[in-house]
This record gives sequence, C-alpha cells and structure tokens, in this order.
Amino acid sequence: MSSAIELEQKFCAHNYNPLPVVLVKGEGARVWDEAGREYIDMMSAYSAVSHGHLHPKIVKALETQLSRLAMVSRSYYTDVLGDFLSYACQLFSYDRALPMNTGAEGVETALKIARKWGYQVKKVPQNKAEIIACTNNFHGRTIAIVGMSTEEQYRADFGPFPAGFNIVPYGDLAALEKAITPNTVAFIVEPIQGEAGIIVPPAGYLKACAELCQRHNVLFIADEIQTGLGRTGKRLACDHEGVRPDLVILGKALGGGVLPVSMVLADDRVMSVLKPGDHGSTFGGYALAAAVGLAALKVMEEEKLAERATQLGARLMAGLKTIQHAGIRDIRGRGLMVGIELDPKLLSGREVAEKLMQAGILSKETHHIVIRLAPPLVIDEALIDKAIEKIRAVFAEFV
Ligand SMILES: *Cc1c(COP(=O)(O)O)cnc(C)c1O
Repeated sequence: MSSAIELEQKFCAHNYNPLPVVLVKGEGARVWDEAGREYIDMMSAYSAVSHGHLHPKIVKALETQLSRLAMVSRSYYTDVLGDFLSYACQLFSYDRALPMNTGAEGVETALKIARKWGYQVKKVPQNKAEIIACTNNFHGRTIAIVGMSTEEQYRADFGPFPAGFNIVPYGDLAALEKAITPNTVAFIVEPIQGEAGIIVPPAGYLKACAELCQRHNVLFIADEIQTGLGRTGKRLACDHEGVRPDLVILGKALGGGVLPVSMVLADDRVMSVLKPGDHGSTFGGYALAAAVGLAALKVMEEEKLAERATQLGARLMAGLKTIQHAGIRDIRGRGLMVGIELDPKLLSGREVAEKLMQAGILSKETHHIVIRLAPPLVIDEALIDKAIEKIRAVFAEFV
C-alpha cells in the first residue's frame, strides 16, 4: 500500500472511505496519481472544481492577492470584498450578499436570516418559527442541518437537535402546501438533489413551490451550493424555471477549486434584519477568498461555463444512454450533473467506482447505487468521448 494511504489511514479520522488512489497533480479536467497515471476527473470534488484544476486565471488572481494582502477579518474594509460582492449581486440580481466559507455555513446563515426575518418582519411569536425541508435533502453536516436530514446515518447519535424543522417529500407540492402554517418562515430546497443521487424533481415543481411560498409569506431558500454556477446549464438551476428565490446559497465552485468560499444572496427586505454583531465568521469574505470568488464568477461568465454544461452534458448523456447493461436502472441529470442508477442486485456502486478508477475515471458512488458523473465544466468533447468509452468498457466487464 502507498505510504500516503497508510498515513491517512493511521492519522486521519475515519469519517470518509476514499478510493485507493493518491493524487498529486491536477490540470483542467485531469488529475495524476503518484505513479504518474492519468485520470479524467468526473467528480470535480462534488462540483467544487467546476472551473477545472488550477484554472490559470483563478490561480493568477490568488497569487496576485497573496502578494498584497491575505487576511484582515471583517473588522476592517478591504479593496476586494466590495468588488467581489457587487459583481455577484449584479450577476444574480440581488441587493446584498453575506460571505461565508463552507456550504454548511452558508446554509446556517440562510436559516438564521430566515428565522430573524420571521420574528421581525412576519411577526411569528418568539421561538415558534418553523422551517420546512425535504426528504433526502443534503444541506451539510452541522448539528442543526443534520437535524433536518432524513438520512439515518447522518443523524444517529448526534442528537438532540434544534426544534423548528419539518420535513415534506421532495417533489410533492401538495405536501408542502399542507405543511405550511402561520409560523412557517422558510422552505429550503435543492433544485436537484445531489447527494441523494441526482434526483430531478418534476417539471414546474420549483416554480410552483416558489409561488406557494410567496402566497403564504414564506421565504423560498434555494440551496444552489452544488447546482449553481453553471453546473446544470444555467447560472442557477432555479433559472430553468424562471424562479427567483428569496435567498440563494452558493458555495463549492464559488471558491474556483482553490479555496472554500460561500455566500448567501438576498434583497434588503430580508437581509436588512441582520445588524452588526448578529452573525459572522472570522474568515468569511477575507481578501484571498474575495479575490478568488470574483475570479471564479468572471471565469464562469467569460468561458460560458453554463452553456458548456448544456452542450457537453447532452453529449455525455447521449453517450451513456448507448451503454447497454442489465444493471443500469436509470441515467438522469441536467447539464453536467449526471447520475447512473444501478440495480443493487446486479451491481455494487463501490465496485463500479473502483473499476472505473482502475480504468482512469474518477467518480464516486452515492447511496451505494448511484454513480455520480460531474466533471469540471471546462472538460472538452474529446475527454467526454474518452470517458464514455472507458465507462462502456467497465460496464462490459460486469457480466
Ligand atoms: C456540499 C453541499 C453542502 C455543504 O457544503 P460544505 O462546503 O461541504 O459544507 C450543502 N448543500 C448542498 C446542496 C451541497 O451539495
């Protein structure tokens, strides 16, 4: 076994179960292991590497900022945070943005804003605010967030959890309508559920949910941490249905594949409930993150990453659908966010992911039965075609 694997196994908490490959270098949509073997990255760190590994413009922005100023905290102004947030607000048409670091922090931030808005603006009685989330959601790993998870393993032995969260089946509009009470302050939803196995809701669902929320004075929170920034073929996955959420949470690709950067976008009527001292993060919006986040958004626009996702996603999907195997139950997704659902009686997700790795394709199984394919959006046609052929060959090995 590689000594790097031995060291991680011995000293790192066993909260993940990585595939046995040690990566040492990345460029664009490809990565290399210790032995110099090349892999196509069809995983892109759960969409955090949508811009590809070490995108030259993002690396340049990082290096330039690093040569001037890295970190001062929000106790002071910097000459980059305003540039970053004004660009983001213009791009997505919101009044304000609140910068954080990880996705989970972005979600916690949105939940806190929603609750405070509920008490101050909607006038919900103190400590009665309710937030509705969906079955099989994934919004991160903090205690409040796993408290609204329906995944037993994410919750088991981590309780007690904060009160005030209700769950409705994903994709079920009538259930949402029934669950809304006068104390409901927000509905939080992933436009496509990523960790649950690339679950695409029925057409029109998001739009109908947003309208329902508006009718009942409930904030519609879109967790676009994985689906946002071009991944599904639009800047935001909500754009497919012309939905403008009250709060949008971005993360993952916002860090350009080099730093953790997240944010919550909202208009003044919502965001203005926060006053100095209400909420914060030492690193949230620090100078390096602001420089990188701005570069990540600009590259998304300049290189038309959303359009690439539409075109290359169609190519990937069409290629995958020509693969014949009794163990493939479904192939679904949107843009470059694709899942191959396996029949667990015939194929194991882990085994398929390992075989794909041996063939030079990095992917990852989710919920044991879905192989997730979400390459960097900068991948080209030739690499997509190569990936399809390698995937075809791997399935042919499982007879
Ligand atoms: C990854 C993810 C998160 C959590 O982001 P972290 O940076 O891991 O905290 C939240 N929501 C969705 C939809 C995600 O995919």
